[in-house]
Amino acid sequence: AVTEVYGEVQRAAGAAERIRELLDTEPEIVSRADEPTASQSSKSESSDNLAGEVVFDQVSFSYPSRPAQNAIDQLSLSVKSGERIALVGPSGAGKSTLFDLLLRFRDPKFGQISIDGRAIDRLDPKELRSYFALVPQQPVLFSTSVWENLRYGRPDATEAEVIEAAKAAHAHEFIMQLPDGYQSFLGEQGVKLSGGQKQRLAIARAILRDPKILLLDEATSALDAQSEYLVQQALDELMKNRTTFIIAHRLATVAHVDRIAVFDHGKLVDIGTHQQLLSSSPLYARLAELQFNQSVPSVDSDQVLSES
Ligand code: ADP
Ligand code: MG
Repeated sequence: AVTEVYGEVQRAAGAAERIRELLDTEPEIVSRADEPTASQSSKSESSDNLAGEVVFDQVSFSYPSRPAQNAIDQLSLSVKSGERIALVGPSGAGKSTLFDLLLRFRDPKFGQISIDGRAIDRLDPKELRSYFALVPQQPVLFSTSVWENLRYGRPDATEAEVIEAAKAAHAHEFIMQLPDGYQSFLGEQGVKLSGGQKQRLAIARAILRDPKILLLDEATSALDAQSEYLVQQALDELMKNRTTFIIAHRLATVAHVDRIAVFDHGKLVDIGTHQQLLSSSPLYARLAELQFNQSVPSVDSDQVLSES
């Protein structure tokens, strides 16, 4: 499962430079789980009884290549179990870095991140990553069947579980309209899916994984209205009872979260609801105007594979 999440992070990171840095970073992460701790049970928390409360305490981080610039700067933030929090901010504000810190692809220079009161650098990275599902900006799909692509979320899932997850993600209907249903082959030689359909497969995969904490990096590209609606339905299903961090680019998303955290140059500059921030945060108001008020016509083949 580590390699699966890791593969997604690689793809989500995008730039080859960044991938290499991730690869370089990975082996250096050492678990402190075996160090003796003061008054802590030695029994490791299973993901099942995890509440998924996440606390950042004065966290700062800078990339080794730019030690003088904090990509995350003195971040303190408490996210309750089951809370949905959107991360917004200009490019370079530190949103993706925050995900890397949560998954321990990077470790803070100062401060501490904890989950349910346990410092994450005291957890085995493998166990830590089992708490999460990451839905990257560009869903990673493989040249194999829809079926195998979904089971990648949880390789031991039964047929019924896969179909149930696809239904919850509003993907079942379009899958059934493909030439060979769940056996349809994806990829260059196979079926081409629209952006919205790919996103719903990625969401179904995350539902199968059944994580306590979700990291969603929303696609920047616009979806047509039909797709937007179905993706939002799928996200609502996925976010139920899970702590969710979502790098948000859509109005529909920020309207569906509990709080929106506004980042700029690594700092958390404002936090609140969409309505609160529109009046209290000049940066948020500006971002909202730039992102939410343009109606971009999109090319999305959902219409071609017309769904009901
Ligand atoms: P966002 O996701 O909000 O666009 P990032 O977290 O990707 O922002 O980047 C935060 C800051 O860290 C930016 O200044 C960016 O240039 C820098 N940064 C990101 N990745 C790297 C890297 N691998 N090496 C050096 N600097 C980086
Ligand atoms: Mg980013």
